[in-house]
Amino acid sequence: MNRTVKYSVIPLIFVILLFSSCSNVSREKDNTPPNIIYIMTDDHGYQAISSYNGELNQTPNIDRIADEGVMFTNSFVTNSICSPSRAVMLTGRFSHENGQRLNGQRFDGSQMTFPKIMQDAGYETAMIGKWHLGSDPTGFDYWNILPGQGDYYNPDFIEMGERKRVEGYVTNLITDYSLNWLEERNSEKPFCLLVHHKAPHRCWMPDTSHLYMYNDVTFPLPDNFYDTYEGREAAASQKMHMENLDLVNDLKLLDEEGEIQTPLRKYFVNQVERMNEAQRKAWDKAYKDEIEYYKKADLKGDALLEWKYQRYLEDYLRCIASVDENIGRLLDYLDENNLTENTLVVYTSDQGFYLGEHGWFDKRFMYEESFRTPLLMRLPSAISKGKIDELVQNIDYAPTFLELAGVGPTEKMQGRSLLPLIEGTKNTEWRNSLYYHYFEFPGPHSVKRHYGIRTDKHKLIHFYYDIDQWELYDLEQDPLEINNIYGKEGYDEITDKLYNELLQLQKQYNDTTVVISR
Ligand code: CA
Repeated sequence: MNRTVKYSVIPLIFVILLFSSCSNVSREKDNTPPNIIYIMTDDHGYQAISSYNGELNQTPNIDRIADEGVMFTNSFVTNSICSPSRAVMLTGRFSHENGQRLNGQRFDGSQMTFPKIMQDAGYETAMIGKWHLGSDPTGFDYWNILPGQGDYYNPDFIEMGERKRVEGYVTNLITDYSLNWLEERNSEKPFCLLVHHKAPHRCWMPDTSHLYMYNDVTFPLPDNFYDTYEGREAAASQKMHMENLDLVNDLKLLDEEGEIQTPLRKYFVNQVERMNEAQRKAWDKAYKDEIEYYKKADLKGDALLEWKYQRYLEDYLRCIASVDENIGRLLDYLDENNLTENTLVVYTSDQGFYLGEHGWFDKRFMYEESFRTPLLMRLPSAISKGKIDELVQNIDYAPTFLELAGVGPTEKMQGRSLLPLIEGTKNTEWRNSLYYHYFEFPGPHSVKRHYGIRTDKHKLIHFYYDIDQWELYDLEQDPLEINNIYGKEGYDEITDKLYNELLQLQKQYNDTTVVISR
């Protein structure tokens, strides 16, 4: 604990450095500031990246970043939901500090963000793809974003305030725009490009080129697929179970006869109506057999759940196949233009996602699959290769990029630069616990408000608001998090220790939005 507290006193020095535009100590050896390409997908669970887990799919291009750089094996978010996570990433501050606690809020773009600081420091900055923060982007020389959640097919883009519809598939288009910007940028300046994909967000619509991928594959069921949620009231009351998947919107059973009527059918009709004739023809042909099968099979109970799981994963992973190919296009561009050596490439997601674990899809919970997020970084000129096991969090991204750019984090940033870890600096003192806080209840999928602490070995969570339940997990003994040992015999000492550390983290990060009582 002392180490992180000590660090929070230091940033004043960095602010002085920032405004005197001194170059940062760690980069003095090389006067060319590195470029940054930050690639972030939406809802990409680490389970669906072959560097992390080869059981579901292969992602050779994303793996290139891991193979040629570093892979964080313990990377987490502070609040597992889209728009709050994006605000954390930009500001280096927790949701209770940057104001973006919920999806649907309007981000206060007047506050300090890392792109603004980099722009002031002489970087050319751009933001392309899914923004999802309500207000217009600030701190970018160029921006071209999807409105709101965006659409998969023939999406609208808002380019510097001007909205227009563009023909094509969203993941390819975001990459096209990114490559165009790289081509046309001011090559005298270092650049910072944010590439934010919509994929693989719900409703998981694959490109026409991937509609048959995984047709012959049966994905393994997670070990806790049939979780009974015993002793876990919040887990029992969520609405993100396989049974909540919408047959039409999520599983693509848009039958011509209109016999399959679901709550989200109308929404999905709007999605396919965006398609042109060729796209629609390919789409209808691909899902025809699924619709026929479903109608004939009359699946019930576990058989229906397992069929839904397979159907869900097929489309989810098809969307990721497009992401992976498009990351290949970006990496190839860097190679062909002699930019690989001095460009930091980051791959991450705004949070993790459930791929059937606990029987779920979606995110929000502090349980591992959605609390974690993939994080890979490659910068051949400066960083080591290999795995990094320290506990890192999305508050750390902004301080990292700023230190790399030679301007240092600002005093308000609550994260720590990851540079000492990725440069392989030996004996770096690091944090030994993480703080988490999720606010969106009541809300979609009915996940209760909760906050908690995670160390290497344990996790203590408090669900609150209309519920008052503590949960404790031993992550080594119970990696599936199905055995809540809070209040059980023999765990008092560790509970007290974690509880006190949790209070300390709330104090350190200035979270006064809840008053703990136990
Ligand atoms: Ca998301």
